[in-house]
Amino acid sequence: MNKIEHIGIAVKDLKTSNTVFAKILGVSHYKEEHIAHEGVNTSFFKVGNEKIELLEAVNSSSTIAKFLNSKGEGVHHIAFSVDNITTEIERLKLEGFTIINETPKRGADNKLVAFLHPKTTNGVLIELCQEIKP
Ligand code: ZN
Repeated sequence: MNKIEHIGIAVKDLKTSNTVFAKILGVSHYKEEHIAHEGVNTSFFKVGNEKIELLEAVNSSSTIAKFLNSKGEGVHHIAFSVDNITTEIERLKLEGFTIINETPKRGADNKLVAFLHPKTTNGVLIELCQEIKP
């Protein structure tokens, strides 16, 4: 793991929350991205070298919709950047962690991503992300 890449926050309404976080951070979000296969809209803020990712559900089968229903708005996941997501997944599997998607998938912000199940991480959803090199 290199560093915290971003912190993901589940929100009910992206537009409203963009305003809230712009006030908190003193900067506006620098991009929005729709991830169709996840059923989410995202927006990103830069805070120093790290980012905040806001996630809004676009349909009721989105994992964000399920999260909002059970827990309400709030911190959803912490993402760490890795150089090689495949070797990190293998290492963490050997350590006994449950990987939600063992095959990395394309996430927001030009990343390959995989998630560790919160049941094996003290309740914290952890995202591994590797920059997709052009
Ligand atoms: Zn994320």
